[in-house]
Amino acid sequence: MKNKLTRKQKKMLRRIIAAACLLIIAAIVTRVLDLPWWVNLLIYAVPYIVSGYDVLKTAFINMIHGQFFDEKFLMMVATVGAFGAGEYPEASAVMLFYQVGELFQSIAVGRSRKSIANLMDIRPDSATVIRDSIEKEVSPDEVQVGELIVVRPGEKIPLDGVVEEGASSVNTAALTGESAPVDVAVSDSVISGTVNLTGVIKVRTTSTFGQSTVSKILELVENSSEKKAKVENFITKFAKWYTPCVVIAALLLAIIPPVILGINSWDIWKTWLMRACVFLVVSCPCALVVSVPLSFFGGIGGASREGILIKGANYMETLAGIDTVVFDKTGTLTKGVFAVDDIHPNNITQAQLIDIAATCESFSSHPVAQSIVRAHEGHIEKDRISDVKEIAGKGVEAVIDGNTYFCGNGQLMEACKADYHDCHLTGTIIHIARKINDDSSEYLGHIIINDEIKEDSQKTVSILKKLGIKRVVMLTGDKDKVAKNVAGKLGLTEYHAELLPADKVDQVEKLLGEGAKLAFTGDGINDAPVLMRADIGIAMGAMGSDAAIESADVVLMDDKPAGIAKAILIARKTMRIVKENVFFALAVKAVILILGAVGIANMWLAVFGDVGVLIIAIFNAIRAMRSPALPA
Ligand code: ADP
Ligand code: MG
Repeated sequence: MKNKLTRKQKKMLRRIIAAACLLIIAAIVTRVLDLPWWVNLLIYAVPYIVSGYDVLKTAFINMIHGQFFDEKFLMMVATVGAFGAGEYPEASAVMLFYQVGELFQSIAVGRSRKSIANLMDIRPDSATVIRDSIEKEVSPDEVQVGELIVVRPGEKIPLDGVVEEGASSVNTAALTGESAPVDVAVSDSVISGTVNLTGVIKVRTTSTFGQSTVSKILELVENSSEKKAKVENFITKFAKWYTPCVVIAALLLAIIPPVILGINSWDIWKTWLMRACVFLVVSCPCALVVSVPLSFFGGIGGASREGILIKGANYMETLAGIDTVVFDKTGTLTKGVFAVDDIHPNNITQAQLIDIAATCESFSSHPVAQSIVRAHEGHIEKDRISDVKEIAGKGVEAVIDGNTYFCGNGQLMEACKADYHDCHLTGTIIHIARKINDDSSEYLGHIIINDEIKEDSQKTVSILKKLGIKRVVMLTGDKDKVAKNVAGKLGLTEYHAELLPADKVDQVEKLLGEGAKLAFTGDGINDAPVLMRADIGIAMGAMGSDAAIESADVVLMDDKPAGIAKAILIARKTMRIVKENVFFALAVKAVILILGAVGIANMWLAVFGDVGVLIIAIFNAIRAMRSPALPA
C-alpha cells in the first residue's frame, strides 16, 4: 500500500488522523472531567463531524432524492441512533472506522485500475505520416491504409503495418508480457501498441487505427467490466433486498421489545436502540459489493500483464470450471511454420510445380499457404491470378493465366477428380492439380511440408493434466498419419484428424453433449466457428489476427500454449478468492447479527463486522492481481 496516494486520498487520510486525535482527546477530557451530558455530546460530535461530514451530506442528499438504503444511509442512521442512545464514543468511532474502510477501498480500486491503465498506456497519441515527402504529425485515426509513417526510437508504433525502410528492435512487453525485444527489418510486420526501441523505421500501414490491434485490445479491456459474473449479479441483487430487510429488522428490534418489556423505561428503550444500531452497522454489505468486483478486476488486470486478455468476469468464472481442453493442431500446438521437405512433381519440373503452388497460395493467410509462398524463391506475379477461392480445411482453387488449379489436401483432389496418389514420406502433403473439365483434372504432383511442435506444447499438456483437466483432445484437418505422430510426441491419447471446420464443431458438440466443460484453443484461422461454440474460446497469437480477437473469449497475445494453463490457474485463483470473500463476509456478519440481536455483540464488534471484514476482504481481493506460477 506504499503507492502514492491521490490528492483526494491524502485529504481523506488527514481527516481521519485529525478525527482520531480529536476522538482520543474527547475520551480523555470526558473521563477526567465530570461534565454535563450535553457537553460530552458536543465534545464527541466534533470528531464525528470531522470524519463523517461528507457521509452525512451524501446520505442526506440521497434521502431527499428518495434513495434510502445505501450504505451511507445505514451509517447515518446507525450513528445518529447511537448518539440518541447516549453511546457517544461508539457513535463517533463507527464513523471514523467507516471512513478508514472507505480509504482502503479507494486505494485498492485505484491500484487495480492502474494495472489496467498500464495496459491502456499502449494507446498511441500521434502518428508521423509522410505526405508529399513532408513529415506531418497527425492523430492516428487520420492515417489511411497504405500510407507511410515514420516511427522513431522510443515511440509507440501507432498502426499495424509492414516495415518498408530501416531496421530496429521492438518491445512487445505491454502486449505479451514478453520482455525480450523482437528484431524487425524490411518486410517484417509490426503491431500497433508495441514500442520501437533502437532505429528509425518507415512503416507502410496495413490497417486503419480503428482496425489496428491496439484499438481492438483497448476496446476489449474497456468492455471487460461490463460482462458480469454470476456471483456479481447475485451480490447486486442480494444487496438490493438485503439492506431494506436489515433496516426493517433493526426498526422492529428497536420498537417491539421495549413495547413488550417496558414502554416507560428509558433504559430498556436505550438498550434496544443500541442493539438496532449494532444491527445496522454490521449489516452494511460493502465488503461483498466492493471485494467481489475488485477480485475479478484484479484477476483480469493481473492476467493482462501476462499477455492473457480475459474478456469478462463471466468468462473468468467459466474458465475456472473447465475440465476439458481441446486444441487445434496447426499454429496452436505446432508452430504453423512449415518447412518444405520435398517436391514430387508429375510430368513437370520441381520449379514449375512450386511456382504454381506458390502463386495459388499467394492470397491465402493459412500457415500452409504462407509456408509455400516463403519456400518459393522467385518473384510471384500476383496479377496472373484472375480468380481465387479458399476452401476451408481443404485448400485453394485459383485461376492462373486462364487455367484453373487446385492446391490442397486429398479431399480437394477427390473433389476435383484428379488421379492423385499419396506419398510414402511423413508430413502434410499438399497436392496440386490442373482442371481439365468438370469430370477430371490433371495431377501435377505434391509438396511434402513439415511443421515443428512448439517448445512448450508437451509441457503444457502435462501441466494441464496436473491441474486436473480430465481430457486433453487435439483436432486437426491434417492427415491421420501426421496427427498421430504429433499426438504421440505430446503424450495425447485423444485426437481426431481429417476434420473440416464443420466437423470440428461436431466434435466439440459431441464432447459438450457428454457433459464436458470445454475450452477450445485455436489460432483463429479456419476455427472461428469452434471458438464460438465452445464454453470458452481461447485464441492465441493474437498479435495481428483479427478473427481471433473477435471470436474468442480469452485472447493470448503470444502463441505459447502454456498461456492456457496459466489462464486456468489465474481464473481458479480469482474464483477461490471471490468465494472466500463471500463466505467469510456472510459468516462473520451472520454471527455478529445474531450476537447483536441478543445483546452480546457491542458496537466495537459491529465495527469489526463491517470495516474489519471489508479491509480483510480487500486485502484478499488484491491477491488476485498477482498471477500464480505454473507447476514445474
Ligand atoms: P488444422 O486443423 O490443422 O488447423 P486446417 O483445418 O486449417 O488445419 O486445414 C486442414 C488441412 O487442409 C491442412 O492440413 C491442409 O492440408 C489443407 N489446407 C487448408 N488450407 C490450405 C491452403 N490454403 N493450401 C493448401 N492446403 C490447405
Ligand atoms: Mg487451424
